[in-house]
Parts: sequence; structure tokens; C-alpha cells
Amino acid sequence: RSSTGQMGEKEDERTAQASQLFENFVQASTCKGTLQAFSILCRQLELDPLDHSNFYNSLKAAVSTWKVKALWTKLDKRAQQKVYSQNKACQGTRCLIIGGGPCGLRTAIELTLLGCKVVVIEKRDTFSRNNVLHLWPYTIHDLRGLGAKKFYGKFCAGSIDHISIRQLQLMLVKVSLILGVEIHVNVEFIKLLEPPEEQTDVGHGWRAEIRPSGHPVSDFEFDVVIGADGRRSTLDGFRRKEFRGKLAIAITANFVNRNTTAEAKVEEISGVAFIFNQKFFLELKEDTGIDLENIVYYKDNTHYFVMTAKKQSLLDKGVIINDYMETERLLSPDNVNQEALLSYAREAADFGTNYQLPSLDYAINHYGQPDVAMFDFTCMYASENAALIREKHGHQLLVALVGDSLLEPFWPMGTGCARGFLAAFDTAWMVKGWAKGKSPLEILAERESIYRLLPQTTPENISKNFEQYSIDPATRYPNLNASCVRPHQVSPGSRETHLE
Ligand code: FAD
Repeated sequence: RSSTGQMGEKEDERTAQASQLFENFVQASTCKGTLQAFSILCRQLELDPLDHSNFYNSLKAAVSTWKVKALWTKLDKRAQQKVYSQNKACQGTRCLIIGGGPCGLRTAIELTLLGCKVVVIEKRDTFSRNNVLHLWPYTIHDLRGLGAKKFYGKFCAGSIDHISIRQLQLMLVKVSLILGVEIHVNVEFIKLLEPPEEQTDVGHGWRAEIRPSGHPVSDFEFDVVIGADGRRSTLDGFRRKEFRGKLAIAITANFVNRNTTAEAKVEEISGVAFIFNQKFFLELKEDTGIDLENIVYYKDNTHYFVMTAKKQSLLDKGVIINDYMETERLLSPDNVNQEALLSYAREAADFGTNYQLPSLDYAINHYGQPDVAMFDFTCMYASENAALIREKHGHQLLVALVGDSLLEPFWPMGTGCARGFLAAFDTAWMVKGWAKGKSPLEILAERESIYRLLPQTTPENISKNFEQYSIDPATRYPNLNASCVRPHQVSPGSRETHLE
């Protein structure tokens, strides 16, 4: 055989191996499995995942089979949006993202597309939330544009407009890694460390105290930090507003989906249906003693139910043992009969689906227990401000919140992802302004102006032209007044700058 023939064979072998390694990564079904497959892929193909500016292009060159081309086409289309200036809009900007939930990861993707160096730290190493989020039409379009179908074949099949939190995280982790984001699991953010007065061996910029303490991320210096660590945000300096409604007790329940024909036939109960159907709730109460204000059912990886239950019916059915005024005491584990709770949620699910689901066996949660949870959401929180700027020894730090840390969602409507992604884009837009050297007061004033729109957004009042969507807020909010908060309303404190 000629040496060119042998070289050709070797080349084919290498292509096939690269394709297989990439496929293993794409198909990985756990967080740890994904990170492991990614690390093998990088090692075998001699790619440097820390070289964030070149990583995506190097990976594309190394894995070029037809099967993968459709994904590259999609990601290229996104990356070529003008707003990113060919991955150079934020060159040199370093960002730390706290939390690898959907919103932290979605923000990471935008920041890496802008050319930032992005490091995500996530305190856990499993994605185990079966609960399901409602997707607005724009989020479906957005995720498809990032290759959702490639990572998760069942993504929004037919008319389905929801996804389990863990599938969403898994998909976004994969896209993030492909685009050069550095992700560290089992790393917990503790607090910000101010730059030292004098330059020292450990550096001279803003850093983070993390657990475990010797981890290399503790040496990472950054210019931007994003709090995406869920409702209990750990970043200092943000005041929280509380919205207190009447007592609201929610229950979530997940049952095993065996994907049988019988299960496939059962109709979902969508997030908007409940208010219109008083008859349903009266019959439910009469037949079972269960008294609900609403119920939602999504058929996803699991059969997922979320409902708001009235306290008296929980007492009557023995789910809550003693009646207390303080909700914390009322719902404390020693005042809840777990068996009765399992029966209550199962009975509601059974009635809600007209007894058509053949077997309602609970799925198993993170703790190895039947996946049911009951909690109080009488109060919902929102941060008063979306961002602030800190300055110490001549080093400025842009601090921002996204996702649940910024604005808690109403679970029965599952708004956490849709509003969360809007905030992720708005934050990326702010980082772009920051990198361009816009004045801090202008940046914060604009960010706060845009943040005021967020709690009011609905699928109906945001722009319908999804094809045009980018991090530029003008592409998404039709009636945007990006200067309703003026720079003079934002106060420069000695160390902190935020809205007064
Ligand atoms: P999250 O998804 O909460 O992600 C925050 C991430 O930060 C987590 O992965 C967490 O481990 C990590 N983290 C926290 N602290 C630190 C730290 N100090 N250092 C590093 N990492 C940290 N919404 C609904 O609409 N319906 C539901 O049924 C529903 N169920 C939920 C169940 C649970 C258990 C939780 C926690 C949330 C649920 N939500 C639900 C909310 C929904 O998950 C969020 O709205 C959505 O995922 C977007 O949130 P996020 O990315 O901002 O935050």
C-alpha cells in the first residue's frame, strides 16, 4: 500500500475517534459524566480548554463529521451576531459566575460569546432536580438556536413547552464547555476578597474565598462577578424586597414516567388553565377532601405536578399535624406526616388526570426519597437592584445578580427560566458596556431601567420577532425606555455604587 493510502486511513481513524469522543460527550446524561467525557475529549484531541478564545474553533476543526456540522452551523450563527464583535467585544474581561443553575449557565454562554474569560463555580456535582420549568416561545427558540435538540432529542417535541431543570442544566453545561467556559463543580463561593493594598504574590485584583480553600479558582482574579446561586444569594450589598401575599403552600410531586401509550394519552394541565376551571376544584374537594387553588401537570422525564393547597384541607387530611400561626413551624418536618403528604399529592394527581395514569409511583429525589416537597411561598423576594460597582485600591468590580437571586419566580407559572434568561441577556449587555468603558453611573442607570421591566414581562408583551433577539435589550422589549432611571439617581458611594 502507498504511504498516502496509509496516511488516509490514519486520518479516517482519527476522524472517527474524534467523532465518537464528541458523541460520548453529547450523550452524557449526568453532570459528572459530562465533565469526564469533556476532559477525555480534550486530552485525546490535544485541545486546551483553558484557551477560551480559541477553544471553540479548535474543537470545530478537530470534530468535523457531517453529524456534528449541524451543531456548528447553529452555534456559528449565534456567535456571528454583530453584538459580539467576533468574540472580541469584551476581550480581556474576566468574569466569575456563582452557581451552575440554568441562569448562571445561560449568562456564562453570553459572556463567553462576547469574548470574556468565564469561570463558573457550582457547589454541587449532580443535577438532580426533576421539577419542570415552563418555556415561553422565545426560550424554546433560544435553546433550539443553541442546539438543544442535538443534546436532548426529546426537547420540545410537538407542542410540549417545558423541560426538567436537570435536563436544562445538562444541555447548558455542554454548550458552555464547547464555547470555552471553565466550569468547576464541588466548589462553593463563600465571599468576595478585596484586592490587597500592595501587590502581593497571590495577586492584586478581586478574588473569591471558596471552599475547598486550596482550589485553583481561589487564585482567579476577576473584573465582574455574577450571583446566580439561586434564591439565597450569597453576594453582599443587595437589599431584598419582599412581596407578601396570603398564605400559600405549594406541593411539587414527581412520578415515574414509563413512556407507555397509556401515559402518552393523558392530557397535561397547563399553567394557565387553573383559574378558569372552578368546577374542577369543587369536584376535587367533594370527592377527595383535597382543596387546591391551582394545579399544573407536565409530562416530561417524570410526571410532574405542582399545586397550591389550602391549609385547612392539609390539616383535615392529616398532612399537617398541628395548626400554628407561624408558617415555618407549621411546615417544619416534625409537623408534617410524610406518608399523608405522599397520599395527598398522589390523590390530587390521580384526580387531576382523571385516573388515567396507570401507576403513580414516585420518582426518587436527590436524597433517595420519593420526590415530593411541600413549602411555603407566601413571600416572594426580588432584589431592589440588579447591579452595583465596588471599588477598592483602584480596582473596580462589577457585581450583578441574575435568575432567582435577582427575582424569584412564581413556581406554578414556572417563570424562573423565561425571566431568568431575559436577565441573563440584560446582564451580558451591561458587561459589554462596562468593557467598552462606559461610565459606571450610566451603566448602572441603564441596567436599573431595564430591570424595572422584568417583573412585568409575559410571553405576550415581549417582542415576537425571536429571530432578532440578542443581548441588546431593544431587540426584546418593545417599549423600552433604557433611561427611565437617570445617572444622577444612582449614587457613587465610597466603596459601592448603586441605585439610591
Ligand atoms: P438555581 O436553578 O437555583 O441554581 C442555583 C445554583 O447555584 C444551584 O445549582 C446551586 O447548587 C448553586 N449554588 C448555590 N449556592 C452556591 C454557592 N455558594 N457557591 C456555588 N454554587 C452555589 N421553579 C419552578 O418554576 N418550578 C419548580 O417546580 C421549581 N422547583 C425547584 C426545586 C428546587 C429544589 C429549587 C432549588 C428550585 C426550583 N425552582 C422551581 C426554581 C427554578 O429552579 C429556577 O427558577 C430556575 O432553575 C432558574 O434559577 P437559577 O439558575 O437562577 O437558580
